[in-house]
Amino acid sequence: MRRVFNNEPGPSETRVVGRFVEVALPTPVDRVFDYLVPDELAARAGVGHRVSVNFANRELQGFVVAQKDASPLLRHQIKEILKAPDEAPLVNESMLRLTRWMADYYACSWGEALQAVLPAVVRSGRPRKTLTVVKLARTREETLAEVARLEATKSEVRGQRSEVAAFPEARNTEHETRTTDSRSARYAKILRTLVTFEEDFTPGHLAEKLGYSLAPFNTLRKQGWLTYEKKPVDFGGVGSLGGEERVPENLTGEQQLALDRITSSVDRDEFKTFLLFGITGSGKTEVYIRAIARAIEHGKSAIVLVPEIALTPQTVRRFSHRFENVTFLHSSMTDAERREAWTRIKDGTSRVVVGPRSALFAPVKDLGLIVVDEEHEHTYKQDSAPRYNARDTAIMRARLEHAAVILGSATPCLETWKNAQEGKYELLELRSRPTGSSEFRIQNSELPSLGLPSVEIIDMQRECHEQHALAWFSKRLRGACAQALEQGEQVIIFLNRRGYHTVLSCQQCGEALTCPNCTTHMSFHRQLNKAVCHYCLETRELPKRCPTCDGGPVKQLGIGTEKLEEEMKLMFGGFNIARMDSDAMKTREDYESTLEAFRQGETQVLVGTQMIAKGLDFPNVTVVGVVAADIGMNLGDFRSFERTFQIVTQVAGRAGRGEKPGTVIVQTFKPTHPAIVCASRQDYRGFVAGEMEHRRISQYPPFSRLVLVTVEAREKPKGEELARQIAMTARDFGKMNQGSVFDVSDPFEAPMAKLRGRHRTQVMIKAKGFREVRAVVDRIQPLVKVQEKLRVSIDVDPLDMM
Ligand code: ADP
Ligand code: ZN
Repeated sequence: MRRVFNNEPGPSETRVVGRFVEVALPTPVDRVFDYLVPDELAARAGVGHRVSVNFANRELQGFVVAQKDASPLLRHQIKEILKAPDEAPLVNESMLRLTRWMADYYACSWGEALQAVLPAVVRSGRPRKTLTVVKLARTREETLAEVARLEATKSEVRGQRSEVAAFPEARNTEHETRTTDSRSARYAKILRTLVTFEEDFTPGHLAEKLGYSLAPFNTLRKQGWLTYEKKPVDFGGVGSLGGEERVPENLTGEQQLALDRITSSVDRDEFKTFLLFGITGSGKTEVYIRAIARAIEHGKSAIVLVPEIALTPQTVRRFSHRFENVTFLHSSMTDAERREAWTRIKDGTSRVVVGPRSALFAPVKDLGLIVVDEEHEHTYKQDSAPRYNARDTAIMRARLEHAAVILGSATPCLETWKNAQEGKYELLELRSRPTGSSEFRIQNSELPSLGLPSVEIIDMQRECHEQHALAWFSKRLRGACAQALEQGEQVIIFLNRRGYHTVLSCQQCGEALTCPNCTTHMSFHRQLNKAVCHYCLETRELPKRCPTCDGGPVKQLGIGTEKLEEEMKLMFGGFNIARMDSDAMKTREDYESTLEAFRQGETQVLVGTQMIAKGLDFPNVTVVGVVAADIGMNLGDFRSFERTFQIVTQVAGRAGRGEKPGTVIVQTFKPTHPAIVCASRQDYRGFVAGEMEHRRISQYPPFSRLVLVTVEAREKPKGEELARQIAMTARDFGKMNQGSVFDVSDPFEAPMAKLRGRHRTQVMIKAKGFREVRAVVDRIQPLVKVQEKLRVSIDVDPLDMM
């Protein structure tokens, strides 16, 4: 090993001469760390290589982001790289630049961004074919007895704790841990949850739900209460179903125009973003396919991003039919499949990659085009660090690699629409649905008579009044369903809320039953006959009397898809009814077989959540019902009208895809709300005009950029104190830099005020643009780092305001 020491001040203070690298580690702190490269690893520790290093007495994996000949660190501070497992770098120059940009933009560390772009299996190199699940090691009875014993211990600890509390000077760090669940309480809760749910949980998933570390699981294993079992991962790849695939011979004039504009950029290796704006079925996918074909002709590759649930058999069939060696990436792939796919993409065997959010980072050779289908979808935003939006990151990647981007949507988000209006993106519009050779033209806000289904809005307030009850089905919807079914046609019923009864509330005071650990309404779980919190798995017996007013009984109110399915079965007994939501569809096979049965006509009614609103094309569906179109409109999120508009528009596009005309029946308590009225006319421009104006007046995006800071604390005042400091710092920055920050809120209790026992306080910052966001975040970040026992998240361009 070659090392030359400068002998001057004393051995421990000398600088080391040698070969150094800067390593980005997945720590929350955004900085790089210097390490010395031992000679034997020199060939494997270049820029973009993965390395293992010692960091704070732990072995961590990171990426080399720079090489250098000297380090300012002194001899006693510098450490050597421990391992460098790969011969070739895992990330290239452009991916390094992209991740650096993500770290800057989304306020995460470079190491976190790098971790997000590489699937875990590629990083670890160990393919995983099995899943570890937690099981009870003894019988239910024995376990319940132990739970009872542990819970008795728990109350003793409580007693001790109040003594400690009475003598504040006796407080110490030990006390800090005791204010949360005591150790035996944790054991009891883990065991009880497993007895109650009888589901397969992975240790990590269950620990996260309960808000614990893995330590109590390990103890319970040692004590013989739990065992870990290996379960084979049984998700197959995306099966490609057989079936005909019609390739349209000629594009419509509008499609051709759009394609010409896109290919002119692809031909010239030009970075450019296009917004392909067209209703469902207007032929956007056909344009994507031909643009991709052009990129491939030039020897380039393409990435197609779709929302996860849109990765349907139809999508798979369509792309596999048109291209050789398409790779489909999806979240239920096994590690072995994922690694194999990664290799195929990297060596250029596969030139087309289709997948959700993370497919954006596929290491394609010579990127020519990125398609972001349904660009307005919220699933493109990751809800943990790095909190990136794949749509915006796609545009950045395309810029770095001189590629074109197509954002496709029938209901573009307002940010995208504004960019298109201002000429930052080129707007390409498909106004009509191709039907054979003829085209049907849709005028802006007139009710289309051809090619699109007719839409009826039903005022549910009046309906309930007439029926003298809280009704979920209007007479009209029931009648239309009955008529369609009798004629051998099919029906889709949409409700954007899963579950059985969604709220348990008191008949007398109206108060809903909430989870003691989270500020969420508990739902009724039919199989358990208990109230359950979906966030932390807390279960409660249904109280006989309301815990708030001690008066009336707690009744199950509201409706979810499960209840809806049951009501449909009562109304239409003779027909087969299937439900599609994330509870019913546990695996991809469930999903595919449910759809296939519907396509074959074995089931006549499909009831479901948003899952059914996506990219499905069934010619025999003539009635689509939207049960409660305004669900979610009262959530107080400034995007809730936009969401409602998007969902209703999407669902309304489901009927009448075949020869038969379709009817869409939208039931709502707000029949005159622009989000509902415009959606029923497929009038995007009408809706956006009004909504833009609201956003402009209140300075919400796209007229500002938001940063949402969330502080989570076991002790509420501590969280609030930090939130106050953050707000103050942001305001001070705004005062010093006039015009950069529009508004900083006072700290407020998050809509989800408590989650897994942590109190949540938020601060919302509205800043002028990206640079200003960056500058404010730079001021806030030092405050965040010094706080222990508090969890802080900084969400740039947040979509979820809870
Ligand atoms: P979108 O992606 O906008 O929902 P698609 O590209 O899926 O629309 O097109 C909807 C249907 O119309 C598909 O069945 C497709 O094969 C068909 N189609 C698309 N373009 C044409 C065309 N130019 N001529 C005839 N049929 C077409
Ligand atoms: Zn809870």
